[in-house]
Amino acid sequence: MPQLEAQLSKYADLAVQIGVNVQPGQTLIVSAPISAAEFVRLITAKAYAIGASQVKVNWSDEFITRQQFEHAAPEVFTKPPTWFAGEITEFAENGAAFLHVIAEDPDALKGIDPERIANYQKTRGEALTKFRELEMSDKVSWSIVAIPSQAWADKVFPEVPADERVDKLWEAIFHTVRLDREDPVAAWQEHLDILEQKANVLNAKKYKSLHYIAPGTDLSIELPEGHLWAQGDSINAKGHSFVANMPTEEVFTAPLKTGVNGTVRATKPLSYGGNIIDGFSITFEQGRIVSVAAEQGQEALEYLIGLDEGAKYLGEVALVPHKSPISESNILYFNTLFDENASNHLAIGTAYAFCLEGGKDMNQEELMARGLNTSVTHVDFMIGSAEMDIYGITADGTREPVFLKGNWAF
Ligand code: ZN
Ligand code: ZN
Repeated sequence: MPQLEAQLSKYADLAVQIGVNVQPGQTLIVSAPISAAEFVRLITAKAYAIGASQVKVNWSDEFITRQQFEHAAPEVFTKPPTWFAGEITEFAENGAAFLHVIAEDPDALKGIDPERIANYQKTRGEALTKFRELEMSDKVSWSIVAIPSQAWADKVFPEVPADERVDKLWEAIFHTVRLDREDPVAAWQEHLDILEQKANVLNAKKYKSLHYIAPGTDLSIELPEGHLWAQGDSINAKGHSFVANMPTEEVFTAPLKTGVNGTVRATKPLSYGGNIIDGFSITFEQGRIVSVAAEQGQEALEYLIGLDEGAKYLGEVALVPHKSPISESNILYFNTLFDENASNHLAIGTAYAFCLEGGKDMNQEELMARGLNTSVTHVDFMIGSAEMDIYGITADGTREPVFLKGNWAF
């Protein structure tokens, strides 16, 4: 792609200005694979140009990560990384912004003992409890953006000649983040306003529950009193806006932890912990997962819901129309950042505190008392399709269509 350099520069602007929205004097913490070095250098330069006080990068490398999972001593995965958690929590408490650059190979940890991966997820999740609370209550600004890697592009475009796949993935990503628009920043503003209008309608409705119907799905989800529907842009503790996911197409809230009943069938594969979970259904009784059945990745799914008690309950209900740019592109990304924004989805694990009136200022116990779930994990999985209808049930029992045939009914 001849204009890649110019596009990359615009993409870095978008990540720094709309994504984390770095402020003068603020520290920016970037996590990224070394394959993203060129892009991260651009990010660094842009952040300093805005006046960032410091840009610190935590590098990772998929080869080294895989080596660790294959060969490191077992206690490495059960000993909490307190040094790492201490560092980023301190930065967060001092007002840093966090940008996560991802380029994951969906099969990076294929064949690794799932118990090692689960131990790692659990101990890391526990060590990062405080940090997660700060992120999930909008105390700090954070954002996730993705760039292609060869392995990821190979997975997404196997039918394309190998040397064209990375460019094709760039093109697809640039489309999803509206970088192919004349004025991407203005296009984002307009897009976020439209999402906000949908959230406003749902917030006025105050549905007591949602009823999902689709092939393999018959699920009822109660919503807690005082729940709030949110969308792509958030406001941090200092009043600065940020966009946590780029792309974002969703409007979402928190379910009542104990109010989920029925069965839901996933409609896209889930890339979780370097493995693929596919063709799965989950059954709930009073919020708790009572059974899971996957055609692929059954063991990984069982480890996921076994991470802690909260991993057996839902923490997010998100609505995404089937007619959205990512969905219409018909590309399966094998990456949740993209696939969740092509589909209605739910998340296993922790709820966002800001999805409850006054929730930003509540502690974990208060959130739990109001019916929100907490967990060491938060994993979205996709359930939407052109065959999905969703009805909202109001306080007086009226049943209204919210989604019909996969798209907004209003
Ligand atoms: Zn979501
Ligand atoms: Zn989520």
